[in-house]
Amino acid sequence: MAVTDRTAAHHGISAFIIEPGSPGFSVGKKENKLGMRASATGEVLFRNCRLPDSQLLGKPGEGFIDSLRILDGGRISIAALSVGTAQGAFDAALKYSKLRKQFGRPISEFQAIQFKLAEMATQIEAARLMTLRAASMKDQGQTRITRESAMAKLFSSEIAVRVCDDALQIHGGYGFIKDYPVEKFYRDVKLLTIGEGTSEIQKLVIARQLLKSQ
Ligand SMILES: Cc1cc2nc3c(=O)[nH]c(=O)nc-3n(C[C@H](O)[C@H](O)[C@H](O)COP(=O)(O)OP(=O)(O)OC[C@H]3O[C@@H](n4cnc5c(N)ncnc54)[C@H](O)[C@@H]3O)c2cc1C
Repeated sequence: MAVTDRTAAHHGISAFIIEPGSPGFSVGKKENKLGMRASATGEVLFRNCRLPDSQLLGKPGEGFIDSLRILDGGRISIAALSVGTAQGAFDAALKYSKLRKQFGRPISEFQAIQFKLAEMATQIEAARLMTLRAASMKDQGQTRITRESAMAKLFSSEIAVRVCDDALQIHGGYGFIKDYPVEKFYRDVKLLTIGEGTSEIQKLVIARQLLKSQ
């Protein structure tokens, strides 16, 4: 994305496709991340990078506006990723709670563990429904899904962080050890409240939509 018309504010930013090897474009260091380590993330550097018109993506000046529309869809994907991550952590915790015995019985028989499992499952179900609603609206070709996709992304990613935290807690000491999948869920999930717009930005987006509709 580059500013192509300084006088046109939001309508003065254009999007381009840049091929590797383009003059002035290079890839910087690979980031050393907390989680999502199976997917590489690296810096992209632009120094006096000049591009022909043929590499323009979409209409001139509309890159920023287009990207906001694309984010409405991308946020549904992050909401779905959150639901899947939370479900994976929950499944692992449910299984472990039935296997691990303390004080002569499986820890799943303790009410404290049952309450955690019940809350986790309920939150996941609510997140799944919000995500499916936003996805269904998009599938039906509705263009005004900003509020629903931001709500699905905000809620699903925040509950996913909580669910992974609870899932690790249910594993006790083994939750902190790499032999079990739950420590990976715990590290991976945090990105979901940050990428495609932080939770704070989702709240701004939702509030703007609410105020606009009044
Ligand atoms: C692993 C990884 C992969 C990524 N991949 C991509 C990618 O493929 N493409 C891409 O474009 N980006 C990518 N990003 C960038 C990501 O989208 C941003 O990091 C994210 O949107 C947050 O922006 P920021 O880091 O600039 O945070 P900042 O904007 O600096 O925010 C810092 C803090 O301030 C808060 N804050 C900022 N502004 C406000 C405000 N107005 N009101 C209230 N609070 C505010 C934020 O919520 C946050 O808590 C990636 C990031 C990571 C970590």
